[in-house]
Amino acid sequence: MKEGYLLKRKTEHGVVSPQELEKINQYTRREFQAQELYTFSVVLCDNQVDRDFECFTKAALEKLKELFLGKTGIFDHSMRSGGQTARIYDCRVETLPERKNQLGEPYSRLVARAYLPRTAKNQDFITELDSGIKKEVSVGCAVNRLRCSICGEDLKKGACRHQKGKTYDGRLCCTVLDDPYDAYEWSFVAVPAQREAGVIKMYTPTDTEEGTRTSSDIIKAFSEGKEMTLSPEECVEISGCLRELAKKAEAGEAYERELRQEVVRLSLLSQPGVPKDIMERVAKRMTLEELKAFQKAYRQESGKLAPPKPQLAGARAEGAPIENAEFKI
Ligand SMILES: [Zn+2]
Repeated sequence: MKEGYLLKRKTEHGVVSPQELEKINQYTRREFQAQELYTFSVVLCDNQVDRDFECFTKAALEKLKELFLGKTGIFDHSMRSGGQTARIYDCRVETLPERKNQLGEPYSRLVARAYLPRTAKNQDFITELDSGIKKEVSVGCAVNRLRCSICGEDLKKGACRHQKGKTYDGRLCCTVLDDPYDAYEWSFVAVPAQREAGVIKMYTPTDTEEGTRTSSDIIKAFSEGKEMTLSPEECVEISGCLRELAKKAEAGEAYERELRQEVVRLSLLSQPGVPKDIMERVAKRMTLEELKAFQKAYRQESGKLAPPKPQLAGARAEGAPIENAEFKI
């Protein structure tokens, strides 16, 4: 299984040109009119090294271009029985020379055009495509040749000494897939939230964006629920921002933990009747604001009840928190 994605179009969604209509009608049982059809572009696969450390050659993409013509794709598993499918009527290999794959080769992708009839049954799916919800595409195909990207060894005959995913002299080792002989399926797969982030990161389109956006621009767009794809530079930018936030969150958590411990200690002094474990449970549920309020009140209270007695400070264990409390925060 390899993964692709839905391509954002600059052109209006679903508009069918006469040339396209002609191609589509080669696959239909009757002649369709343009307004009866919905079309979209999907990237079926590309020559990026995927999560399994496999990648297609450009020649393989060229071969798959022929193999995928006319193939139907399913929307998702629940629709399998309903027979709702989209059919590929056109395929092309696009090379974006300004982008490189992980092996340093120009980035190439197999872009398919697919159609489906605009029926009531298909309307939900069309809406999802328009809104960009269903983005990831999974394809299945069979290849004749698997070789190691480092030594070129034929991996169908046996393993070489290189390990996929490792780097040798700065070169990534992966399995290069070549000479495909069958393309048997393509489908839209549900994308879990976590995975989607990976998709955005891996697949950086060139269609709409110009320039690198700042992390605050990106976060603003995210919070507005905008669909977007990030360039490699933007991924660096945003991951730096996230690391910074994680550091701050860690410091904040440490502060809260200390505050909570102190509130429990002070409560034992001010209200010795409340058992420690109960106070710990209560403190665990307190907000930062509540903890601060209790800390303040307890400090005043414990100051009244047990003013620090320097001569006893070292001797009485329960006296220690009062002393230490002065140094907190
Ligand atoms: Zn090898």
